[in-house]
Amino acid sequence: MDTGGNSLPSGPDGVKRKVSYFYDPEVGNYYYGQGHPMKPHRIRMTHALLAHYGLLQHMQVLKPFPARDRDLCRFHADDYVAFLRGITPETQQDHLKQLRRFNVGEDSPVFDGLYSFCQTSAGGSIGGAVKLNHCLCDIAINWAGGLHHAKRSEASGFCYVNDIVLAILELLKQHQRVLYVDIDIHHGDGVEEAFYTTDRITFPGTGDIRDIGYEKGKYYSLNVPLDDGIDDESYQFVFKPIIGKVMEVFRPGAVVLQCGADSLSGDRLGCFNLSIKGHAECVRYMRSFNVPLLLLGGGGYTIRNVARCWCFETAVAVGVEVDDKMPHHEYYEYFGPEYTLYVAPSNMENKNSRQVLDEIRIKLLVYLSKLEHAPSVQFQEIFADSETDEDQDDAGERWDLDCDMEVDECKPLSSRVNREIVEPEPEDQDDQKGIAEHPRAFNAAAEETECSKASDGVSMPIDESSVKVDQENSEHFISLFRCTPSQ
Ligand SMILES: [Zn+2]
Repeated sequence: MDTGGNSLPSGPDGVKRKVSYFYDPEVGNYYYGQGHPMKPHRIRMTHALLAHYGLLQHMQVLKPFPARDRDLCRFHADDYVAFLRGITPETQQDHLKQLRRFNVGEDSPVFDGLYSFCQTSAGGSIGGAVKLNHCLCDIAINWAGGLHHAKRSEASGFCYVNDIVLAILELLKQHQRVLYVDIDIHHGDGVEEAFYTTDRITFPGTGDIRDIGYEKGKYYSLNVPLDDGIDDESYQFVFKPIIGKVMEVFRPGAVVLQCGADSLSGDRLGCFNLSIKGHAECVRYMRSFNVPLLLLGGGGYTIRNVARCWCFETAVAVGVEVDDKMPHHEYYEYFGPEYTLYVAPSNMENKNSRQVLDEIRIKLLVYLSKLEHAPSVQFQEIFADSETDEDQDDAGERWDLDCDMEVDECKPLSSRVNREIVEPEPEDQDDQKGIAEHPRAFNAAAEETECSKASDGVSMPIDESSVKVDQENSEHFISLFRCTPSQ
């Protein structure tokens, strides 16, 4: 694997991409609470690196429109959205029943500005999708997005609003097929659940290899279970051939890549051993297909490495070489003692044997060939009739180029009190014992259940509520997203 810098080869891949980058200067002020591993501050740190590496001038920098209730309700239940809008740390004690019902309070706590945070996160991802739909950029980036665990009526794993599902729904207005790729260490279960019966594909680090979708969505969901300590070479050994084949067979009109950085070596919650360059190789590879690309954030709990990773991945997106030596900036002290952009992976054991990876690779390539040869699947190009889509007209107005505010790059970053400065990232693991984005115990249980369910070859796990969502939104995505049988 090429590990030298991020320069792109000559030829089609060397062509510059037009990149729209969504960033709200307020985002770093949201605070999940003392000791909570999810720190929106990492997005502000990423932005500071982008500014000081001179990368902002290579992109259109946009402040996202806050997503409105009606935008969120395209996927989420009305009562859940109303709850998120109304709940505050002061009033939460009066709503214990709702907190339980919506799974808010522990891993996903109520904090000041929770709803605005959700609006910003979703607004950036939907805004990016709109920009791509209108061909106003080749790549859109929202590091505040990628919150892949959120369910229709439930918070999960630090995620409240599923910006990814909302962005995919937006892309489906314009594109018949959208590919979702997820390189977070955790399973993108919220996204998978939302689209389980449609033909989309996910590529998470966890999840069961037997989760391959259901009914019309069969073979459209791929999961690659990987074990602890996977390194760059092993990861790409599986990633590239599978994704290459997926691109060939599925021919998506747009790709959403969730770049969760908890798959990096040394993550506070994760247990993979990817280097930043290895992680970014996924971005580089997806970019090389020249298909409209939405890059989103996600997990990532050793925040200095998250900022490094997303800075480097932004550089890959714009096609600019960046120096390993980090420029001085307001968060410079986080990056000692190396003060470099890249970090070396550790010497932890890679529990993924080449033989097992090879079996996984072969199994998934077989799934894909079934998809390719399925008689019901024909990849006809059917274009959305955007003139009749009220939402789309509305979105076009609302999310138009003129409506987004350009962030003034000359203005200093938010000068508010930075709570993260007084609470530097703890190196000890003590305060995370009771908290995990997606506990491994849960994964194991899920796998066990699916194991028994999968034995009949048909009854894959389906949440009734997600099926209902599919039907409710059928105008918007089932007919567009599904590889349309001849009709
Ligand atoms: Zn994660």
